[in-house]
Amino acid sequence: MDTATKTSTKTYQMYIDGKFVESATGKLFPVYDPSTEEVIAECPAGNAADVDRAVAAARTAFDDGPWNATTAQERGRVLFRIAEKIRQHTAELAEIECRNSGKPIVEAEYDIADCATCFEYYGGLATKITGQVNPVPDNAVSLSLKEPIGVAGQIIPWNYPLAMAAWKLAPAIAAGCTVVIKPAEQTPLTLLELAKHFEEVGLPNGVVNVVTGYGEEAGAPIVAHKDVDKIAFTGSGSVGKLIMREASATLKRVSLELGGKSPNIFFADADFEAAIDGALFGVFINQGEVCSAGSRILVERPIYKKFVEAMTEKAKKIKLGAPLDRDTKMGPLVSKDQYERVREYQEIGKKEAKVASGGNRPSGFAKGYYVEPTIFYDVDNSARIAREEIFGPVASVIPFDNEADGLKIANDTPFGLAAAVWTRDIFKAFRMVKKIRAGIVWVNHMQPTYYEAPWGGYKQSGFGRELGPWGVEEYLETKQVHINLSEQPIGWY
Ligand code: NAD
Repeated sequence: MDTATKTSTKTYQMYIDGKFVESATGKLFPVYDPSTEEVIAECPAGNAADVDRAVAAARTAFDDGPWNATTAQERGRVLFRIAEKIRQHTAELAEIECRNSGKPIVEAEYDIADCATCFEYYGGLATKITGQVNPVPDNAVSLSLKEPIGVAGQIIPWNYPLAMAAWKLAPAIAAGCTVVIKPAEQTPLTLLELAKHFEEVGLPNGVVNVVTGYGEEAGAPIVAHKDVDKIAFTGSGSVGKLIMREASATLKRVSLELGGKSPNIFFADADFEAAIDGALFGVFINQGEVCSAGSRILVERPIYKKFVEAMTEKAKKIKLGAPLDRDTKMGPLVSKDQYERVREYQEIGKKEAKVASGGNRPSGFAKGYYVEPTIFYDVDNSARIAREEIFGPVASVIPFDNEADGLKIANDTPFGLAAAVWTRDIFKAFRMVKKIRAGIVWVNHMQPTYYEAPWGGYKQSGFGRELGPWGVEEYLETKQVHINLSEQPIGWY
């Protein structure tokens, strides 16, 4: 039984074959405002029957529908029109994102505007998808053509709800795929709001279908479905492993964007003020619910003590508050589950290391899944708080002796999503860049992400790349075409 207080809740439907529909069972699940713990909406609890409907629509739109006859220019224009709708509705989408996920409104506004940029980027890229002529040693023309993979199943997390959808939808549409997308059960609202515009922007029925529901009930059937050609997943490593296993039954193409425990590495010669800001921004932005969070802060010994003190002083001033308040710098965590998980790690950390700041639930909040921004120091890299992804505002500060030691600690992790290096020495910076085993390395910054550049992990942070031309490549097959220009028979028999 749901114990949250119900105020005005809005009931949503999911979007299949160009229509808003209920789930096959008629069941709904609650969607919360994590700052008040109240139910703000209800969404259809989709299951295998709903996935069947959505996949059938996507299959038809791909195989027989008007979508396979569209030109790249037309698909590009659809993407530009989606971007325009997002720009027209930024304030309203940002408010919903903010209320549903708990992220501060200023960050939500940034995220939503950035979603529009993502659709614009892929709107432009749609017409730049090209094959090539292969120089073969025969009287023949050999071509490689790029073709859409088919029906893409897309499963996304709750930390950047609309942005994670945009990162997957935009390249899939540019490539000419059709899509069945499942938002996270915690945060389905902005994608459903966006779907209200799909018809008007010229997306034919069945091209994008949004199925809402829980992972095992609505996500797993997408992965298992024989008519889905590819799964693009962003989420936890444990679900990623499950998806890879399940997708193997039908040998689907799979791309996985998983978690991390990214090192943010500070050498003694780094600009000190910039370094402190970079350490805090790297781990506390979006409540630390960031896959590339710089949650292991590696600091060279000569500046270690001063660094921990300066970080602590600034961290204590981070303003926690209502997500809709424009002064708020940190909102609540997304859900009760996530709150309990992070609180547990705060307790684990107290046994494994020393507390510089935080470590508890903040005082002054009767409701809401708030936790204090927390800094542990003198952390050993073998501690659980240094090895496991917490996905909350918890930093583990680890001292290191020199370049070799810093590098060893940085790479001593099962993950390989991101890293950052702070130093004024360009030679040292680039030695580190080359040796760090991660998909993204920032120098003297942490977290900027661009649509023009690739995003994805090494090691257990997944495989495949999103964004840029790499992102669209994930939705393409390569077809070889051989055109014989010799009029002679083969002459073998
Ligand atoms: P999660 O793995 O619990 O859920 C992600 C999605 O998978 C949700 O939509 C969920 O409903 C669905 N799901 C759950 N079980 C499933 C199943 N058995 N079959 C199919 N689908 C299933 O992850 P989360 O808690 O929503 O997100 C946090 C994780 O996402 C973190 O590990 C974070 O690092 C990762 N993440 C990675 C990136 C990246 O770009 N690498 C970006 C954002 C988040």
